[in-house]
Order: sequence, then structure tokens, then C-alpha cells
Amino acid sequence: MKRKPVIAIDGPAGSGKSTIAKLVASSMGFHYIDTGAMYRAVTLKALRKGTDRKSEPALTELAGSTSIGFEYGDGLKVFVDGEDVTEAIRLPEVSKASSDIADSRGVRQALVRKQQDMGAAGGVIMDGRDIGSVVFPDAEVKLYLDATVEERAGRRHKELVAKGIKTDLSGVKRDIEERDARDRNRPFGALVKVKDAVTVDTTGLSIEQVAARITGIIKEKL
Ligand code: C5P
Repeated sequence: MKRKPVIAIDGPAGSGKSTIAKLVASSMGFHYIDTGAMYRAVTLKALRKGTDRKSEPALTELAGSTSIGFEYGDGLKVFVDGEDVTEAIRLPEVSKASSDIADSRGVRQALVRKQQDMGAAGGVIMDGRDIGSVVFPDAEVKLYLDATVEERAGRRHKELVAKGIKTDLSGVKRDIEERDARDRNRPFGALVKVKDAVTVDTTGLSIEQVAARITGIIKEKL
């Protein structure tokens, strides 16, 4: 049987992928899969266990023995080995450490396999860095969301402040620039804009404007 469509959304940190993917998924009846949350989940576990983040065998073992689950309800909840870590995985120290974890070949292999299983039946919107290039290179719709680094840092800063996490804008911008460089230069699964992806620059656009544009592109493609 032919699978339902897969919609791949890639782009740098803070480009609005998850906000938009959630909205479009609920309005179009797709399942949303946040792959960044999966890298964050393994990162949180590594930090808690004190796993050596430079040890490839240790990280491979950790990723292989971690169960990651999503629960859809009021909002998206993320579970690691049965524990609700929805809030904990968003802490700045997890964001920072996640680049090391996402560089690991073993972690990527384990998570890409899980993502492919989760999307095998289709009917999903999956966001990340390597969805259109590695996880679902045959996705029916591929989108690449982008925005200037200033805009992305401003959005992240606002989100953190709203959660009561103390940060300064210049620090958030520096972190984003560092993560951009790591995302674009990692040896496997680097952030790339694939040829068949449609780029949407979200700088200066409201969430509603981006959602409308993306919905239009998806409808046209499907
Ligand atoms: O998107 P988010 O900030 O939640 O991603 C968390 C971490 O996981 C980042 O370091 C990002 O580079 C990495 N990531 C990845 N591949 C994906 C999704 C996220 O390497 N498909």
C-alpha cells in the first residue's frame, strides 16, 4: 500500500520550524514529529549520567538504550525512558550540549532509524536539519525555513524570557551562531538546503503569515 505523504521541514535553530509544523500538522491532520527533541532527549540523559560526550562508543550505547516517546494532547509532551522531560530538554545547557551529541555518528544512526520507523506510514510533518536529505529523501514535500540570525535570536530570547529563564540577547545570538556553524559543518547529517526544497524566509513575518504560506505550498505540492 502506498504510504501517506511525508512533509519534511529543515532549517537552522530559531527559524520557526516547530511552531509552524505544529500549527500546520493540527490544521491538516498530520502527526508532528520534532526530531530536535529526540537529540535533546539523548543529550539530557548524557548530562545526567555524566556520559563522556566525546566518546563515540559511550554515546552509541546511550542512544541505543534510550527510549524516546511523544504524547499528543494539549501540547506535545516528550518522554525519556518513561519520564516527562518536555520542560527539561529546553534548558539552555541542554541546547548547548546538544551539538556534541548530534555530531555523534552512532547517535545519528539510532535516531534516524527511529525517525524513519515513526514516519513509515506517512501522514507526518517532521522537522529537523537532515529530514529532506537523510531521513526522508523521498518526502513528498520538502521545505527549508530560514530567517536572519538577529530575528532568530530575538525569537529564542523571547521564548526563554517567557519561561522565566534568565538570558541576555547577545548571549542567545552567540549561542545560535555557534549552533549554526556546528549544524552546517557536521560530518554526517549536516544542515543543507536540498535542491528540491522550497525555501521560505520567515524574517519579519508573523506566525500566521508563515503558516498560510506553508499551507499553500503543501496544498499545491500534494
Ligand atoms: O531544533 P533543536 O534546537 O531542538 O535541535 C536540538 C539539537 O539537535 C541541535 O543541536 C540540532 O543541531 C540537532 N538536530 C540534528 N538533527 C535533526 C534535528 C536536530 O542534528 N534532525
